[in-house]
Amino acid sequence: ARVFNGAEKTRERLTDVNDILALWRASAHEETLEELEETLLGVDFGPKASARVTDGVRARVERGECETGEDVRRALKASIVDVLRSAGDSTTIGLNEREGEPSVIMVVGVNGGGKTTTLGKLSHRFAESGAKVMMVPGDTFRAAAAEQLATWAERTGAVMSDSPPNTKPGAVCFKAVDEACARGDIDIVLADTSGRLHNNTQLMDELVGVRKSISKRMEGAPHEVLLVLDGTTGLNMLNQARVFGEAVGVTGIILTKLDGTARGGAVVSVVDELGIPVKFIGVGEAMEDLQSFEAESFVDALFP
Ligand code: GDP
Repeated sequence: ARVFNGAEKTRERLTDVNDILALWRASAHEETLEELEETLLGVDFGPKASARVTDGVRARVERGECETGEDVRRALKASIVDVLRSAGDSTTIGLNEREGEPSVIMVVGVNGGGKTTTLGKLSHRFAESGAKVMMVPGDTFRAAAAEQLATWAERTGAVMSDSPPNTKPGAVCFKAVDEACARGDIDIVLADTSGRLHNNTQLMDELVGVRKSISKRMEGAPHEVLLVLDGTTGLNMLNQARVFGEAVGVTGIILTKLDGTARGGAVVSVVDELGIPVKFIGVGEAMEDLQSFEAESFVDALFP
C-alpha cells in the first residue's frame, strides 16, 4: 500500500525527493521512508549509507520531529550531515608538529580525476595562507605530468623539487623531502603520484613504496594522504577509495568537478564505509576553485 491516495505512481516519479516529501503523512511514514531509501540508492548513496541515512530520518520521525514534508527534508539533511561528520574533522589538515620541519602531503588518485589541477589548487591555497610550497613530480609514469606540475608551481609561486630524471617515484619523493629539509624555507611538500600504471597491483605497490620512502626520510610523514575523487563518477568512487585506502591509508578526500553537477552523493558512502572525511571540494578548473568541505552546503546542493 502506498501512502498517497491509493493512486498508482510510477517508480520514476518517485525518484525525486521533492515528490516524496510532498506526499508525506506522518501517520503513515514507513512506506515513505522506504521510498526515500530507494531514492537515495538512485542518487548513488549505496545500500549501507542509504539505510543509515534513512534510519537517521526514521529516528527523528519517531521522536515526533517530522510533522510536515519540510520537517522530513530537514531531518534527511541532518541525517546525511551526521554521516558526513562521523569520519572526523573536515576542517583541518594534518601538519608536522616538529619545529622547523616541513609538512608532507601525498596526493593520490586515478588519472583524469583532477589530481594535477587539485595539486595546483592546494598549492595556491597554501601560498595564500603564507606558506612556502614545494611540489614533487612523483608521477614518473605519465610523460607530461612533471611539466604540468611545473606550470602549476610557476602559477602559484611554488618551487619544484630538483628531481633527477629517470628516477623511481620513491626516490624522487625521498630526495624531495631531503631537499625541503635542507633548504629550511619550505613549509609544505606536495607530492604528486602516479594515477595509472600497467595494472592496479603495480600502481598500489608503487604508492606503498612512495609512502615508505617518505616515512624513511621523515618519521611521521606523510602527514596527510589526500585522495582525489571525481565527483561525477558515482559509486565507482567507493571502490577506488577502498583500494587506495587499503594500500596507502588515505586520510582525506578531495571531491572534484562538483561545479555544474548535483552529483557526488556517492561520497556519503565513502565516508560511511571507510571512515575517511572529505576535506575539500573542487568546483572548477582555476586555482581558486577549491573550497573547504562543508557538510551542510554539500547536502543543500544535493537536495536543493
Ligand atoms: P589528472 O589526470 O587526475 O591529473 O587530472 P587533471 O588535473 O589533468 O584534470 C582532468 C580534467 O578535469 C582537466 O580538464 C581539468 O581542467 C578538469 N578538472 C579538474 N578539476 C576540476 C573541477 O573541480 N571542475 C571542473 N569542471 N573540471 C575540473
